[in-house]
Amino acid sequence: MAQTSASAGTLLRHVRTGRARSRAELVALTGASRNTVSARVDQLIAANLLEEGGRGWSTGGRPPTLLQFNSRAGCVLAVDLGVTSVDVAVTDLSAQILATVGHPIDIAEGPGPVLAEVDRLARQVLAEAGLTPADVCAVGVGVPGPVEFSAGRPSHPPIMPGWHDYPIPSAFGRYECPVYVDNDVNVMALGEIGVGGSVQDLLVVKVGTGIGCGVIVDGRVYRGAQGSAGDIGHIYVAQPEGRTVVCRCGNENCLEAIAGGGALLRDAVAAGLPVTSTRDVVQLAAQGDGVSLELVRNAGRTIGTVLAALVNFFNPHRIVMTGGVAQAGVPLLAGIREAVYRRSLPLAARSLEITVSEAPDLSGRLGAALMAIEGFLDEDSVHQAIAR
Ligand SMILES: [Zn+2]
Repeated sequence: MAQTSASAGTLLRHVRTGRARSRAELVALTGASRNTVSARVDQLIAANLLEEGGRGWSTGGRPPTLLQFNSRAGCVLAVDLGVTSVDVAVTDLSAQILATVGHPIDIAEGPGPVLAEVDRLARQVLAEAGLTPADVCAVGVGVPGPVEFSAGRPSHPPIMPGWHDYPIPSAFGRYECPVYVDNDVNVMALGEIGVGGSVQDLLVVKVGTGIGCGVIVDGRVYRGAQGSAGDIGHIYVAQPEGRTVVCRCGNENCLEAIAGGGALLRDAVAAGLPVTSTRDVVQLAAQGDGVSLELVRNAGRTIGTVLAALVNFFNPHRIVMTGGVAQAGVPLLAGIREAVYRRSLPLAARSLEITVSEAPDLSGRLGAALMAIEGFLDEDSVHQAIAR
């Protein structure tokens, strides 16, 4: 259907986001006729997606009937799949968590056993929330690897052996609803909107073993032509004369080969620190160890030089750091801020916020829920719901 400015999906979005609270405000916002708006609002009420509640203030004449989004019209399943654990939640259509459960897994066991476990956990949270599979409107799944978004299939994921091209949506067939699968960074980026409020243009940078970036444009994930937008880990960074680091992708001096979690561990071991994991380095830095602190701050500076270019290009409201290395907090942010504010244009940097995620454990689940909700309530889906 045509994406007119007063389609049912658009009207629903205006009410959901609080931009309009009555038919009159929808008319004023969209420029559509009163009759058109009234007819579509009636359809949305009949489809149980909008409800009338109370009366607003009159500006002369009869006070308007207020409209509100019926967030209990259905529920979504949110699955945050990690390398060693999975979290499953059921939320209402405003991403309010109704029940949630976490469980250890080993992603390398492959899709069969892992998704069977997810299925068991999904049944558990639905039962806890007093819901049935028929109540589920959509499923959102975040996975730790690249995904062909339109098909819900991982694409050569380096840390998910056995998952390449596996049709993840097929594991949720019992729910007979749309299933959306995306990489964890994009999903967390959506979740940060839910955690951090109404920022519309946002970069969420995950610094774990690798480095990736979720790009939110005008409140939506930007995926690019092939779905690989935000893969900043392989941007070239200049190194001192004579220093060359070969990246796992085969190129030299990629950002993640210089400043990712693996690089941090390698450099800490080379400096003689008693560490066996990136987490050890982050912990030493937290305890005030000078060598670790300097390594983390240097990683921040290197990441900051790349982010400075992104800030000039994209002019985000906010950059949120997440992932294992981001747990280092202050020294990492200090290095990043130093580079970003030195190299960004004043206009782009003027009101830029750079922070560490306030809810790194929640953003994956919240983002998966928001992805499912956005998919369920997009133009075409709302059109279909009304047609039924
Ligand atoms: Zn690379």
